[in-house]
Amino acid sequence: AAKEKGRDHLALFEPELDRKARERRDIENDLRDALARGQMRLHFQPIIDLDTGTTTGVEALMRWYHPQRGIISPLDFLPVAEETGMITALGEWAIREALAEASKVEGEFRLAINLSPTQVKNPNLVATVAQAIHKHDFAPERVELEITEHVLLDQTDASRSTLMRLRELGVRIALDDFGTGYSSLGYLRSFPFDRIKIDRAFVENVIDDLHSKAIISSITRLADALGMQTTAEGIENREQLDILRKLGVEEAQGFLVGKPMPLEEFELDEENSGLLCLPDPKLSESYL
Ligand code: C2E
Ligand code: MG
Ligand code: MG
Ligand code: MG
Repeated sequence: AAKEKGRDHLALFEPELDRKARERRDIENDLRDALARGQMRLHFQPIIDLDTGTTTGVEALMRWYHPQRGIISPLDFLPVAEETGMITALGEWAIREALAEASKVEGEFRLAINLSPTQVKNPNLVATVAQAIHKHDFAPERVELEITEHVLLDQTDASRSTLMRLRELGVRIALDDFGTGYSSLGYLRSFPFDRIKIDRAFVENVIDDLHSKAIISSITRLADALGMQTTAEGIENREQLDILRKLGVEEAQGFLVGKPMPLEEFELDEENSGLLCLPDPKLSESYL
């Protein structure tokens, strides 16, 4: 009976597997030409200071404008890019494009760029970052590279020394998605991060779940003691924002504050020393 059940099971799910495999293959094929065809774009998501409400930075997030499928999220194509090695070209493009776009906008805002583990293993990364910064005469302290603990997972000295060399350029390094992986505290010891980005999973539950609240509060105090800044990811409502501010989190990012969007949709705040601000400058005041 178990065998028969097993067969039913297969019969039921094989077409679904087929469909998934086909879709994966299609994405892989299309992705090969996506850059050359100009289908990649960066969107930028604002990050605000919870004390002042001003936009202190933007995070560059890749979007694939697919002619048939519409806008595809990196969650759907980055795993394929990682497996096939295409991430190298895509990642280098993202670094150059982010610097090129951000350098055209006035203001002291920080520019956050994500790096995948494969990118950090690539010895050319430091040169790519250095060249992009110099080409656009962008102050290196304004660039913040975001890595996840997966980068440090294999404990290779290569990745660590790449991060150190990036640091020597003057760029900042942030630990992204903090709290979702394994031995996160060990990673905090193994590298002097400038910032911890608290994962959306904790923010999501902060209103009802005392444990999430306690964890965020502890991360904030830990970051303080280690001389690191904190940003909370995925803030979707006002109540979360207020709790996070009370817990001592320095910066906030999330759909409430602003969705990722083309950089030209941001407006310049003339009164605020040319600082980049939210599409509606009054919005940021209302957060206080
Ligand atoms: P991430 O770096 O943790 O970026 C934050 C993700 O959360 C983004 O997803 C963003 O759109 C989403 N997000 C922001 N606020 C909210 C919110 O309030 N609610 C919800 N539900 N989601 C929110 P996205 O753009 O799909 O990017 C996914 C991941 O792909 C990023 O996670 C990052 O790890 C990676 N990625 C994106 N762009 C690049 C890139 O240029 N290079 C590399 N290597 N990785 C990238
Ligand atoms: Mg990130
Ligand atoms: Mg993140
Ligand atoms: Mg995340």
